[in-house]
Amino acid sequence: MARGITQGNTVVKQFVKKPTWKEALKDICEVARISLHNLVSSKTPPLPMCYANEFERAAILLGKDEVLELIREDYEKQDSRIKQAILKAKKRVGEAKDILKQFEEDIKDEIAALDTYYRELEGQTKSDPQADIQAFMISAKLLKDGGNKLMSDLTTVIGQITRQEELLGSLTKQVYEDPLTGVMNRRAWDKDLQEIEASITSYEDGTFTLVIVDLDKFKEINDSYGHLVGDAVLKQFARLLKEQFESSGTVYRYGGDEFAILSPGFGMDEIIPKLNAFRTRLKNSVFIANGGKVKIKLTASIGTSQWNIGKTITQIIQEADKMLYEAKESGRDCIKYFKE
Ligand code: GH3
Ligand code: MG
Repeated sequence: MARGITQGNTVVKQFVKKPTWKEALKDICEVARISLHNLVSSKTPPLPMCYANEFERAAILLGKDEVLELIREDYEKQDSRIKQAILKAKKRVGEAKDILKQFEEDIKDEIAALDTYYRELEGQTKSDPQADIQAFMISAKLLKDGGNKLMSDLTTVIGQITRQEELLGSLTKQVYEDPLTGVMNRRAWDKDLQEIEASITSYEDGTFTLVIVDLDKFKEINDSYGHLVGDAVLKQFARLLKEQFESSGTVYRYGGDEFAILSPGFGMDEIIPKLNAFRTRLKNSVFIANGGKVKIKLTASIGTSQWNIGKTITQIIQEADKMLYEAKESGRDCIKYFKE
């Protein structure tokens, strides 16, 4: 049995005796470690996407900022590659569906023509029962039955293709959705910010607000109850935030226990009351995990800033970030907004 680690195309260890399970396990771990290392250093997105998200989560949990930097700076490239693949698949499915639809129409016409022919023959047999027409009738009926069978097969195939189309639609959605919390992910954040940036000069003063929300002392929840409880809390928190901003913004998971909201069309004067309402709601909420066995109270710190003529998107992010930092510094559980 060959035991060896491949570096480039070269197997560096030689053929040796069958390994013990301990040795094999060690090798597997080493290969996994090297492949992960290679994926990160070559900036290859580990597909399917759930692996990428899991990978990012593990890096966040371990506090591996250098790994996060590597995978995050490449989001745009990954994004366009995935989008292109989905678009290509969608185009192919669309084309196949068009061909099948045309085929379906043709068969329908054929069946209708055979039906007319069959009826004509039927009329003729009635007036001349001795004629060979009966033989023709049988073949016409066979053809018609064959056509009907083909039609039903086609309907099944078209149904399958339609389901594939729906699947592709949901795949597109998944690309931009955080799998844990169901809010938009960092990829969607980058895409949406780019779109806003492209049209920001047409916005009036105070018609775009950016919010960053960070859970307070969230690590303690993980440390006290474990990551699964932490996950459950993150999910409930995200749902609450999403409900609060349903009609006034989009909620994103910015990373870890940090969320963000983009509110085009809204100024801080409209968003701050909503944030206050959210804080009150949060204060009145009990986060439940482990089937009700664990009950947790939670607070969050919030930083926000708005668009004014002359600012860039980067500036608004930095301002909101600075405000979040101030909120944390001044004891957490509060909202700080950037004053011009
Ligand atoms: P602070 O008030 O200063 O924000 O304190 P904190 O403990 O919330 O801050 P910190 O950023 O140090 O910790 C965030 C923690 O979030 C670290 C990590 O354990 C946890 N975390 C990040 N992503 C996830 C996740 O997907 N699931 C769980 N359960 N925990 C996560
Ligand atoms: Mg936190």
